[in-house]
Amino acid sequence: MTISLCKHSHPVQPPAGTILRPGPCTGCGITWNQVQDELRRQEDALINGTAHEGTCPDCAETRTLLRFQTPAQPWDDFDYEPPVSFLCIGCYNAAAVAFNEATAALFDAA
Ligand SMILES: [Zn+2]
Ligand SMILES: [Zn+2]
Repeated sequence: MTISLCKHSHPVQPPAGTILRPGPCTGCGITWNQVQDELRRQEDALINGTAHEGTCPDCAETRTLLRFQTPAQPWDDFDYEPPVSFLCIGCYNAAAVAFNEATAALFDAA
């Protein structure tokens, strides 16, 4: 695994890129999609690495609990750390769906 010291700066101004499809990093050339894949891999590793048996706080069943953390939102303070909870897979999926619906509702209302 290579460790890049580049802080990555992706152009969001045409013609190099756009807000929705930022261009490759101006420092090291890594593409936006590669960075997103890497972030997802790190998140998966974190979830898998911290999974453990326990009692789910939502349904009170003893199951394998997965780390659930709502993604940071653009309007959060930059140092805000969203709360972490450990949920069973069923409650994890329900929480993820509820979060997506809440986010979608926010954008619909805007
Ligand atoms: Zn870079
Ligand atoms: Zn549960």
